[in-house]
Amino acid sequence: MTQKRVAVIGSGFGGLALAVRLQSAGHAVTLYEGRDKPGGRAYVWKEEGHTFDAGPTVITDPACLEELFALSGRKLSDYLELISVDPFYRLCWEDGDTFDYVNNQAELDRQIAARNPADVAGYQRFLKYSEELFQEGYVKLGHVPFLDFKSMITAAPQLMKLQAWRSVYAKVCGFVQDEHLRQALSFHTLLVGGSPFATSSIYALIHALERRGGVWFPRGGTGELINALARLFQDLGGQLRLSSPVRQITTSNGRTTGVVTDAGPEAFDAVASNADIVHTYEHLLKDDPRGRQAATAVKRKRFSPSLFVVHFGLKAEQPQLRHHTICFGHRYKGLIDEIYTKNNLANDFSLYLHSPCATDPGMAPPGGSTHYVLSPVPHLGTADIDWAKEGPAYADSILDYLEARYIPNLRRDLTVQRIFSPADFKGELNAHLGSAFSLEPILTQSAFFRTHNRDDRIPNLYFVGAGTHPGAGIPGVVGSAKATAGLMNEDLA
Ligand SMILES: Cc1cc2nc3c(=O)[nH]c(=O)nc-3n(C[C@H](O)[C@H](O)[C@H](O)COP(=O)(O)OP(=O)(O)OC[C@H]3O[C@@H](n4cnc5c(N)ncnc54)[C@H](O)[C@@H]3O)c2cc1C
Repeated sequence: MTQKRVAVIGSGFGGLALAVRLQSAGHAVTLYEGRDKPGGRAYVWKEEGHTFDAGPTVITDPACLEELFALSGRKLSDYLELISVDPFYRLCWEDGDTFDYVNNQAELDRQIAARNPADVAGYQRFLKYSEELFQEGYVKLGHVPFLDFKSMITAAPQLMKLQAWRSVYAKVCGFVQDEHLRQALSFHTLLVGGSPFATSSIYALIHALERRGGVWFPRGGTGELINALARLFQDLGGQLRLSSPVRQITTSNGRTTGVVTDAGPEAFDAVASNADIVHTYEHLLKDDPRGRQAATAVKRKRFSPSLFVVHFGLKAEQPQLRHHTICFGHRYKGLIDEIYTKNNLANDFSLYLHSPCATDPGMAPPGGSTHYVLSPVPHLGTADIDWAKEGPAYADSILDYLEARYIPNLRRDLTVQRIFSPADFKGELNAHLGSAFSLEPILTQSAFFRTHNRDDRIPNLYFVGAGTHPGAGIPGVVGSAKATAGLMNEDLA
């Protein structure tokens, strides 16, 4: 095989995984990242001894990561230690109810029976259903590039059998009766940008994914997993160019010819974009009619909401907290519907609280603790909020809520605080409408109906990451890299 030169734009999990796969296959890959560090949504800040992971913290399906190292006969464990997280999550409600979502069947049964004995059997049926979804939706279809409608037709009978047109929440209701248990088994879609009330039931596979593969945390934080992938890529001979935003993808005679950065143009045999899909078509391909046409089409689709994240460091440990806490507010459906459709900020919230020191005390200086709290909020197309103005007060109300219910003396012990708002998703990551997860994962925007891993018109232009099949989340974007690399290796052979 003659060695081909490939550019990958963006070093999110998807871009890194693709770059590793292509470099492992013998291509000469240059990975361009606009920011000063790799990782994208998984960026890291360090401040006063605290390590703040910006984004993903729930690491599932470690096998999909192991596979990237195994391609070149290496081992993930030579680069990084993954620590098992237990419980997976602690779920808390305002009435004082809690549920520890653990990977121990007897303990799960005990907690479920205490709520509603009939739900023990219902949960078993749900788990079996989730397992089936996992086999069909993740193992068989998770890294298939859906380039034509025929591929969708082939998958259709199975999707029909599994009732993929129903929502996750609707399916869960058919298995268990306890409302808090229904929330516990359906909230996961929010972690990939989908409403439990609108996302295809296929996404209930996340439950089986977690039960089978566990929930993990890299020692030193998710940023260390990014560093491990970046190091692997460079050990394989790949070129990582940081602080190098791509300004244009060049085309000639219907093919891409390379990219332009501030250092000038560079020629490549193929280009893959891990950057936001609207940004790629609208800005990087603005001089090509395909770019304008595709941007218009993609912008008509529904985008996932955004997130408002407050990172904070405390000078006190918080032994009462588990690593992942889901703090449900008093409304579930009502609040979620508002986040997806209303042009204002709700007064109440449901939060995810990240407290990594529960697993790895090294994430904070001795005697302290590191946290982030995130609140799902509308994207800028749904609610055009002036976050520079509204953000500080919103952060205060979230911290007040945490202090009242979860972290006594939060204000007294607060040493560091940083906000990441929808405006930052847009400004820092070029995310269309400041969406945190790209296209919403509804059935009509999944598989063939999502951005294709290879462009329909420009045959040597590819896509990878949350906007492509199968979608957001680390296992999703790492799966998309497998689909895209398969196509590229074939095309470049
Ligand atoms: C706060 C938060 C928490 C999350 N929690 C979890 C979790 O616990 N578990 C989980 O599995 N998933 C989680 N997710 C989802 C997951 O993080 C994302 O779906 C995934 O990381 C996205 O990866 P990606 O490959 O699409 O690339 P992205 O992370 O979107 O990276 C794209 C990269 O492209 C770069 N770029 C953009 N334009 C250019 C340009 N012109 N030139 C060069 N570079 C450019 C950007 O700087 C960025 O680095 C979370 C997401 C967020 C935001």
